[in-house]
Amino acid sequence: MQAGLLIDMDGVIYRGNEVVAGAEQFIQGLKDEEIPFIFLTNNSQRTRRDVQTKLQRMGIMVEERHIFTCAMATARFLAAKKPSGTAYVIGEGGLLQALHRNGYSIVDHRPDFVVVGEGRTVTLDALERAANMILNGAKLIATNLDPNCPTQSGTRPGCGATVAYLEAVTGIKAFSVGKPSPIMMRAARKELKLATSQTVMLGDTMETDILGGVQMGYRTILTLTGSTSRDDLDHYAYGPDAIVESVAELCQASKFFRERLPQGNAEDDTVANLEAWKAAQA
Ligand SMILES: [Mg+2]
Repeated sequence: MQAGLLIDMDGVIYRGNEVVAGAEQFIQGLKDEEIPFIFLTNNSQRTRRDVQTKLQRMGIMVEERHIFTCAMATARFLAAKKPSGTAYVIGEGGLLQALHRNGYSIVDHRPDFVVVGEGRTVTLDALERAANMILNGAKLIATNLDPNCPTQSGTRPGCGATVAYLEAVTGIKAFSVGKPSPIMMRAARKELKLATSQTVMLGDTMETDILGGVQMGYRTILTLTGSTSRDDLDHYAYGPDAIVESVAELCQASKFFRERLPQGNAEDDTVANLEAWKAAQA
């Protein structure tokens, strides 16, 4: 059966600005074998094109359609929930562009939603305004709840830390759309037009990539080039279906799927035509 990959980027394809050895060959292999894939990132700061450029500079040649960000997932979710709505945004270009593209106006008073992403421009003034908007009825939306992100020089505070601040001030819980939320995990699968049983999630973080995949019934691959070591796995009640030292082990992905992953279970798939399915069972 055909399978496709949802691929986390940070800690999988690169660390900071340094590409993981073998990543270029891994992606080329997917293209050669015509395995559908999409990069799935909880970073809302960049647009699709920004991410594409970052990857190209590392020698990874992909198209914009190969990139799916939590900003896109959040904007689509909000547009489906409330078309032509308004948002007050704590975040940067990737999030602002995604909201605009989905018919949203950015406002600085009486928004339908306060939407939080990551960025370097957050101020106490913006947080105070956001808190008052939330207390006056704006819904608090998180693009993701990652508390921090490892960098080459240490750690930078993540969107989840900003969201926690607003939750503490207001006493109101945020709703989060990014990984491991099923909203983003499902939307990414549908971008590739894959069924659940055909979908494989590859990532380095247990709390987002692997948990998100497990919850959706996708098969999962953990790579050890990022935030998780083999010893860490003892602390979790769930685990990946396969573990690789790095994506260099996935240069022949279809062979890896055959030999190292359990078979996808077609019973996990939604039946598109219930009458035809019932007839086949009879
Ligand atoms: Mg990662």
